[in-house]
Amino acid sequence: MQDGRTEKSMIIILKPGAEKQKVDDLIRFLQSEYSLEVQRMDGVNYSILGLIGDTSALDTEPIQERSVVKKVMRVQEPYKKVNRAFHPDDTVVQGSGFTIGAERLAVMAGPCSVESEEQIVSLARKVKAAGANFLRGGAFKPRTSPYNFQGLGEEGLKYLETAKAETGLPIVTEITNVEHVELFVRKVDVIQVGARNMQNFALLRELGKTKTPVLLKRGLSATIEEWLMSAEYIAAGGNPNVVLCERGIRTFETATRNTLDLSAVPVVKRMSHLPVIVDPSHATGLWWAVEPLAVAAVCAGADGVMIEVHESPAEALSDGKQSLLPEKFSSVTQKLKAAAELMGRTL
Ligand code: PEP
Ligand code: MN
Repeated sequence: MQDGRTEKSMIIILKPGAEKQKVDDLIRFLQSEYSLEVQRMDGVNYSILGLIGDTSALDTEPIQERSVVKKVMRVQEPYKKVNRAFHPDDTVVQGSGFTIGAERLAVMAGPCSVESEEQIVSLARKVKAAGANFLRGGAFKPRTSPYNFQGLGEEGLKYLETAKAETGLPIVTEITNVEHVELFVRKVDVIQVGARNMQNFALLRELGKTKTPVLLKRGLSATIEEWLMSAEYIAAGGNPNVVLCERGIRTFETATRNTLDLSAVPVVKRMSHLPVIVDPSHATGLWWAVEPLAVAAVCAGADGVMIEVHESPAEALSDGKQSLLPEKFSSVTQKLKAAAELMGRTL
């Protein structure tokens, strides 16, 4: 992972009220002399230049002496664009009619798989009434066994569109194939990259060429740094609209399907400016463990949750054991409202 040449990117913190002309001169100098990509970020309390590229030959001393420069810092981490150092403010991902990472929590709910038009439309109405602000549902399913239900494919996407038209809920659904990017950009509000595809770099690169928000789930055994590097693929390609989703990691524990790494929430928030949501359904695999962990996730600072809901969990074509009945989901959202208030947020 360590790449000595590109590793040493830098940030330049500008003095408050730095003269525009002199800052522009500095940017031009860095671009022309060193072929660096310069990203300028203006926050409420700061202005910084993020330098991406090979900064190993750059002499920091003369830069430090420029009148507009407060401080020059090397960035050691391999992730740049998603690094908090490059962008001290939290990122708010925006789509048409929704935000993720702002004051309002993102509550994504729906079945594991889209099973029929009636199922998804009925469930969309119920989760919306309970307080969800996104509809989730898999049309293309990445199943561990080739003998299990593989999803309705394009037909499933069509049913999701119908459910959106009926309820106004933006849709979140998983992409499993790089050839579907164009189709998903046309039909989907938030494109989910599942745990199994977190390191499908060809797919990440293609998604980087779009502007559609991407929900990037953490890989089954991915470290936080590997996860952020996958986000970097998308951001480096030109798509800054990335939302991270902690969904449990593989450990020695077998009592739950995965082990929810709740510490990832504050850790990632420190390392990156991207919004983070938590999926307690896939993390535990147990419907009765979803509520306490969803509440805990909000209290840990998550920007939202993703929860699987089904009207008849025993008959679900996938992940029934971790799916909540709509009534139960409704009581979970009541608790999430209280947690949101505690955290100075809304639902
Ligand atoms: C899903 O959201 O249905 C899913 C398959 O999730 P994950 O990629 O986290 O296993
Ligand atoms: Mn599922």
